[in-house]
Amino acid sequence: MSFKDVIVIGGGAAGFFAAINIAEQSPSLKVAILERGTEGLQKVKVSGGGRCNVTHAEFIPQELIKHYPRGEKELLGPFHQFMTGDTMEWFEKRGVELKIEDDGRMFPVSNSSQTIIDCFLTEAKKHQVEILYNHSVKSIKKVEDAWKLDTSQGDFSTKKLLIATGSNPKIWNLLEKLGHTISQPVPSLFTFDIKDERIKNIPGVVAQNVTVKLLNNFSPLEGEMSRRDREVLESEGPLLITHVGMSAPAILKLSAFGAIELAKRNYKFEIEINFIKQSFEDCLDVLKELKHGLAKKTVFKFAHFDLPKRLWQNLVLASDINQETRWADLNKNQLETLASQLTQAIFKVDGKSTFKEEFVTAGGVDLKEINFKTFESKLHKNLYLAGEVINVDAVTGGFNFQNAWTGAYIAAKNIAH
Ligand SMILES: Cc1cc2nc3c(=O)[nH]c(=O)nc-3n(C[C@H](O)[C@H](O)[C@H](O)COP(=O)(O)OP(=O)(O)OC[C@H]3O[C@@H](n4cnc5c(N)ncnc54)[C@H](O)[C@@H]3O)c2cc1C
Repeated sequence: MSFKDVIVIGGGAAGFFAAINIAEQSPSLKVAILERGTEGLQKVKVSGGGRCNVTHAEFIPQELIKHYPRGEKELLGPFHQFMTGDTMEWFEKRGVELKIEDDGRMFPVSNSSQTIIDCFLTEAKKHQVEILYNHSVKSIKKVEDAWKLDTSQGDFSTKKLLIATGSNPKIWNLLEKLGHTISQPVPSLFTFDIKDERIKNIPGVVAQNVTVKLLNNFSPLEGEMSRRDREVLESEGPLLITHVGMSAPAILKLSAFGAIELAKRNYKFEIEINFIKQSFEDCLDVLKELKHGLAKKTVFKFAHFDLPKRLWQNLVLASDINQETRWADLNKNQLETLASQLTQAIFKVDGKSTFKEEFVTAGGVDLKEINFKTFESKLHKNLYLAGEVINVDAVTGGFNFQNAWTGAYIAAKNIAH
């Protein structure tokens, strides 16, 4: 049996961040990370397309929490303790400069996730954090005041235990045995599979600012939807047409806020898209003006409402307007159909695909069972939980890592002192 003052299970984002901060703040403690893999930080490595979207340039806690479909209420307090500005400062103090991109996402200036990994490995070494790879934790037991761990390479004992194992079903099972409730895990952050003439043959086309609404046409389920789900099942932002359907923030946000509802529907549902963010009536007025102003021009040829030309053309064809039709020749029905295609186009979604830049799992340890002032379990003293193991997840943009840094930092502070 090997004894450590503090054991962190999981050498991922939250685990490394916590272990380093504990060892730095309390150098007398023997801190060890038990990681089941031959290497740690594997998700950090592939994150953000290999660039690691470390956090997001949102510096107001009340605004930051809005990006968390699960955890919004609970993270407000923690963000007052440690949030995006603190993350920037933490990395910059250790030689990692971060940059802000136009959409607010923050990356290391090197554009390489390896910079973050190198920083963690250097800091861990500097503060004598012991990293034990190939140590998969098989059981967790409380014996009097100590935690006993059975791993693939022997037994360990510790006073303080931090679990940072991400979305790992085996550890969730062990936590259930310790009395914790686990919210059913379902995927979040995915793209929508859509087969439709209107988006066929135009992959790569982006509509810059759209609204996407989940249609509530499955009435038997409506009763089960929480009030909050109902409120948020609409999102806005850029929309990307892909080879298999649709992606980009407008879609990914809906996949995150609707994660539970969409899983219930087995990823078969309908969405309504407003491509131009105008009402049907306003759009129709504009089309009527165009009918007079551009009478002799063909409708098909030039895009309007700042839409990409190929998307405009597909929507025109979908409105029963052929390539030669001139604006002057449009009848009332065609004008209304075009206005409808532009502002309330309905698409059938038939499945989901992985968004390669980032994906997470919604679900994990029930938030009611965690003290968010310390990230300690409310059921067990000296048991801390941080990162994706708890039922927190966010939309894409660096928010998921921010949850890992915040939880890990606060848990570390409390463990160290
Ligand atoms: C492809 C991809 C790209 C992403 N990009 C971004 C991004 O750019 N920005 C962002 O904010 N978020 C991103 N995310 C999400 C982000 O990676 C996670 O939210 C974050 O890694 C969670 O950190 P964690 O420490 O809780 O879990 P993880 O990073 O998953 O770490 C958990 C660790 O625990 C170990 N472990 C599990 N079970 C055991 C066990 N029984 N014994 C010992 N060790 C165990 C695992 O091997 C792993 O190393 C991305 C996710 C993916 C999949």
